[in-house]
Amino acid sequence: MLKNFDELLRKYAKLLVAKGINVQPGDWVKLTIAVDQAQLARYITEEAYALGAEKVIVKWNDDEITKLHYLHQPTEVLTDIPPYEIEESEDHVLNKKVSRLSILSSDPGLLDSADPAKVAAFQKAATLAFHAQRKATQNNDIKWTVAAAAGSAWAKKVFPHLKTAEEQVDALWDQIFKTCRVYEDDPIAAWDKHKNILNEKATKLNEYQFDMLHFKAPGTDFKLGLPKNHIWTCAESYNPKGEEFIANMPTEEIFTAPDTRRMEGIVRSTKPLSYAGQLIEGIVVQFKDGKIVDISAEKGDEAIKKLVFENEGATGLGEVALVPDPSPISQSGITFFNTLFDENASNHIAIGSAYPSTIEGGTKMNEEELRAHGLNISNVHVDFMIGSAEMDIDGITKDGSVVPIFRKGDWAI
Ligand code: ZN
Ligand code: ZN
Repeated sequence: MLKNFDELLRKYAKLLVAKGINVQPGDWVKLTIAVDQAQLARYITEEAYALGAEKVIVKWNDDEITKLHYLHQPTEVLTDIPPYEIEESEDHVLNKKVSRLSILSSDPGLLDSADPAKVAAFQKAATLAFHAQRKATQNNDIKWTVAAAAGSAWAKKVFPHLKTAEEQVDALWDQIFKTCRVYEDDPIAAWDKHKNILNEKATKLNEYQFDMLHFKAPGTDFKLGLPKNHIWTCAESYNPKGEEFIANMPTEEIFTAPDTRRMEGIVRSTKPLSYAGQLIEGIVVQFKDGKIVDISAEKGDEAIKKLVFENEGATGLGEVALVPDPSPISQSGITFFNTLFDENASNHIAIGSAYPSTIEGGTKMNEEELRAHGLNISNVHVDFMIGSAEMDIDGITKDGSVVPIFRKGDWAI
């Protein structure tokens, strides 16, 4: 076991509730976590109450049982989400303004042996059923944080060369603690410092207000419009009360919404994507007249095609994010097979919906107004990685001048 593991786990739990969802007296907290992370769940619950949380709700899950459900339930049963579950989730987000803390630890290829059509059918049913929760989360109506814990099947995929399961899990925890700054004497102060560095770049990009971005790398030549009054965002977000929270821990990205009506060219993915328990690799996307017109993958072709062509709004993009190649997660050289980490090692774009907070006044706009500003609306949001040390990005201003933003994978601005 890692030296001082128990102490580090408690420090991590404290960071997630104090900085991540930033628990305030009277808050309700909903924690989603796997049964094999029970000790972390106990520490999170304890630390949340210590900060004055009024109620902590724990939703347990288990990879093995999830897989059994997929293998044995008929599709019509699997996709029939009971009304009481929907009601409960709506009560939590709409009435109780619950803060959501989701801890990911699953096997990235958990459902590789399940029928992709069944997985897609469930994903679609769940996204439709839990529409209110997703919307409240994406609109920052509630505080939310996604973070990770080292599940053993996941650790095995990331560190196959390590001999024992214990060594693999230790290595993954070590990465989680490192990238979340848990080894620092004062992790919260370290996060504040990190935030300031990201904010400097975001401020520069916001001042430029580029009209378009041009991505160039082997296999990629892609032009992407940006909406008027777009906002480059990083690390911290705010709920309507103005309480700060960190949506993703770790985070290295600076992101905004594209104008989904203006996309042209071709993009190649540079890292594997784990989506709904399926591994997807070697993605190539063709854009024409503001739409994905073709998408293929060397592995997981059916899953990615179903995602894009069988979900509303999924031929549009909802996010463009910049992460320099010298950033620590990228430099670790590790492929995590988990978007929370891999997206923070690489420039990425997201298939599906945009975050309303990435345009001025966006969180107060309805869907029609967001669309009129070029923001994409969809039931899905799936990031995939396109960055590398070979990527150049130009910003094109309204008057047509070209400003280098990235050269050879690093900031040029
Ligand atoms: Zn992102
Ligand atoms: Zn995203």
